[in-house]
Amino acid sequence: MRLPPREDEKCLYKTEGVILRTRNLGEADKIVTLYTKARGKVVATARGARRTRNRLLGPTQIFTHGRYLIFEGKSMDTLSQGEIINSNQPLRDDLEKMAAAMYLCELVDVMVEVEAANEATFTLICNTLRMIDTGAISFALRGFELKFMQQLGYQPQLEWCISCGAPITEQAFFSREGGVVCNRCRASAGPVHAVSKGTVELIKRVLEWDWSRITILHPSDQSLRELAVCMRAYIDFRLDKPMRSLEFIQTLNDSYDSEVTS
Ligand SMILES: [Zn+2]
Repeated sequence: MRLPPREDEKCLYKTEGVILRTRNLGEADKIVTLYTKARGKVVATARGARRTRNRLLGPTQIFTHGRYLIFEGKSMDTLSQGEIINSNQPLRDDLEKMAAAMYLCELVDVMVEVEAANEATFTLICNTLRMIDTGAISFALRGFELKFMQQLGYQPQLEWCISCGAPITEQAFFSREGGVVCNRCRASAGPVHAVSKGTVELIKRVLEWDWSRITILHPSDQSLRELAVCMRAYIDFRLDKPMRSLEFIQTLNDSYDSEVTS
């Protein structure tokens, strides 16, 4: 029989993780949110992590992939040691990459509960950050959104109309409720977006294929635009509140547009 842990007994665990979010605490501490391989989302304090020479300064920077030693606490865990595997520094040096990585991190943070571990999600986060770094930002994010929703149990239905069940043979329309609707049902299905056959095929491949195979695809700009609109509607339908990082991306896009037109 296992005895329950004593009041003063702390459990220690070691896990790989990616830093999703950091907040300042007091003079020199941080509260970090990580997605870990072993326990999924974890929130922990990192004492002294904002001091220049502190050994936690580097390992607790946002987007860092590292190996961490964490003490379980009653109200919050404590991150006591960290070792960098990949600092992902280029994602912090480039505004567009940073905005994309921030969006990914915020999406994970708002969609998963604390300590609901899924190793596939951890791998997906690492792979997507790597792909954002290569510059294929838009496709990396769309691929992430699709696979992440699939892992959460929200795989869109693509073969049959989600309203009437008929097979889709002609033009398909994507519904934010999680799949395609046929031409006959589109009027009664609420907000829908037209999707080309090519885009539907792209979605199927992303859902079925391993990440390494996905990265060799070169989707058309039209498919990426269609997919961006559909995934935005699909994800927002599942969220209670708008995501803050989207405002940042919008501001960036607006500033690029005004540079082009001025
Ligand atoms: Zn239908």
